[in-house]
Amino acid sequence: MAIQRPKGTQDHLPDGSPKLSLDTRAAAFQHVQDTARRVLERAGAQFLNTPVFEDPELVKRGVGGSTDIVRKEMFTVYYFGDHGGFILRPEGTAGIVRAYLQNGLKQLPSPLKLWTHGPMFRAENVQKGRLRQFHQVDYEVLGSTDPLVDAEAISLMVDVVAALGLSGVRVKLGSIGDPADRDAYNAYLRELFGAHVERLSDDSKERLERNPMRILDSKSAGDQALIAELGVRPMLDFLGDEARGHFEAVQAYLTAWGVAHDIDPSIVRGLDYYRRTAWELHHEGVGAKSALGGGGRYDGLAEQLGGPLVPGIGWAFGIERLLIAMDAEGLDVPGQGGPLLYVAALDDDYVGHAATVAMKARQVARAEFAYRAVKPGTAFRDAERRGARLVALIGSDEMARDVLSIKNLSTGVQSVVPAGDLHTFLAEAASQPPSPEPHTPVQENA
Ligand code: AMP
Repeated sequence: MAIQRPKGTQDHLPDGSPKLSLDTRAAAFQHVQDTARRVLERAGAQFLNTPVFEDPELVKRGVGGSTDIVRKEMFTVYYFGDHGGFILRPEGTAGIVRAYLQNGLKQLPSPLKLWTHGPMFRAENVQKGRLRQFHQVDYEVLGSTDPLVDAEAISLMVDVVAALGLSGVRVKLGSIGDPADRDAYNAYLRELFGAHVERLSDDSKERLERNPMRILDSKSAGDQALIAELGVRPMLDFLGDEARGHFEAVQAYLTAWGVAHDIDPSIVRGLDYYRRTAWELHHEGVGAKSALGGGGRYDGLAEQLGGPLVPGIGWAFGIERLLIAMDAEGLDVPGQGGPLLYVAALDDDYVGHAATVAMKARQVARAEFAYRAVKPGTAFRDAERRGARLVALIGSDEMARDVLSIKNLSTGVQSVVPAGDLHTFLAEAASQPPSPEPHTPVQENA
């Protein structure tokens, strides 16, 4: 068997490929990226790219040394003679905050809205919607603690899913307060779970020492049973006055804008640099345990990376999960479509000329040509297979008169177009909507 792609990765394929699903369709991928671009750039977000591999220290500090991502799921890359290696990024935020600090982006107007999309890597247990190379759209805002920024970020996420046509999306909103609030909550949890250590999973025993809040999002069924039995109080009960005021302001904006959201006290983020607002978007098609996307405020991250205090907030969607949700709702995306013009030579001597005509046509429209001389019937069939609207055949007569014989495949109308008028003719044809009539099959020798 020929070499296969690694487990947990996907190819994004052109339309017409066999066994194509929405989440492996390249056109669908691009559609999500383009939709996100439109929504986010209208809101003033600027695009940036950061490297796919980064310093391991950035990922440890940016994602958290105690998380599963850092402890179990990181891909390391080495080059010859290198001893430290690099990490393939598991998420986008740490790299963006690093780029902000390293490149002096503080000098740009604040708050600075940035967005990107690209591949992320986590060595996870592979299942539907859980890949080892997956793709995110990321949005980050740096330089403000204003609750208006939080509400706008959440609302933009909702705008992206709405622009994709998704309707069954729920926003779950929480707050994890300020560091002192979290300390108080962790002290409460340590005491509560400390009385039942023997029932905790090994991972959670360790969490009890380092970061009790992370017990709450444990994947162990035993841990979850204990959590339910103990009737653990939510983080929201421990919010101080400032964090509570901030949380209420975020909700008030969302309500005023008609952005539906449910308060979900179970949303927690275990890492020190997270502050206040945290949320997730869910969709039935993706399953209750997996989010379509999530976000949070991370005012302590820049300092954690060795920089000054720069408040920040951001979110990420998994593109594959958006496509799974769209598929579940029966949504489709437009394909690339065919060329406006297909040019074919009827004699080997004219193939080069056919190519020249197509290349000139490309100044105004999409155009393709046949690489070998063909009979007219074959030219029409090839053009139809490619979804072309116009076919130009080049024979001795067209060469002698320096004209193009162009047939419109949807109307059947034939035109003789002087070579110099091709651009005008194509522009006119492109402005006509394609005929709603079904194509009449083209016969050989038609
Ligand atoms: P996170 O950085 O874990 O909050 O993830 C943000 C979003 O990325 C999630 O809501 C998912 O949509 C997506 N995501 C995270 N991990 C994976 C994965 N292994 N496979 C596919 N999508 C993922």
